[in-house]
Amino acid sequence: MLSLKKEKGDKFMKQLAIEDLQLKARHFVRERDWEQYQTSRDICMSLNIEASELLELFLWLKDAEVAEIKSNQKKMPAIREEIADVFYWLIRLADTLDIDLELAFIEKLQKNELKYPVEFCKGKTEKYTELVTLPK
Ligand SMILES: [Mg+2]
Repeated sequence: MLSLKKEKGDKFMKQLAIEDLQLKARHFVRERDWEQYQTSRDICMSLNIEASELLELFLWLKDAEVAEIKSNQKKMPAIREEIADVFYWLIRLADTLDIDLELAFIEKLQKNELKYPVEFCKGKTEKYTELVTLPK
């Protein structure tokens, strides 16, 4: 379960584990008897819809507005909420498909470290297939 450790003062330090959050989300779904509706296909669609809702919050913003988004008190609460929606569906999808999300994430990050060696991609935005590599 999600645990909160009390720090100095009134601050709490969160100790999160993906598995704990998945259990909370699974409990939320089971209490409402919604598992019957949440197929991996429908969860994928929900994930995409929520990602689009997040994207919509950035639609038509000027570069300067994007650069200052963290101080936008109107947008930030909505962004925070949409990120939570995306995360919810992502952990539900991984749970439904019996995917260890933490392990999958670490493995993918390791793959990306190999695809994007620092010496070839630092400061560049090219896809790994377009990066200049040493002659064979
Ligand atoms: Mg939403």
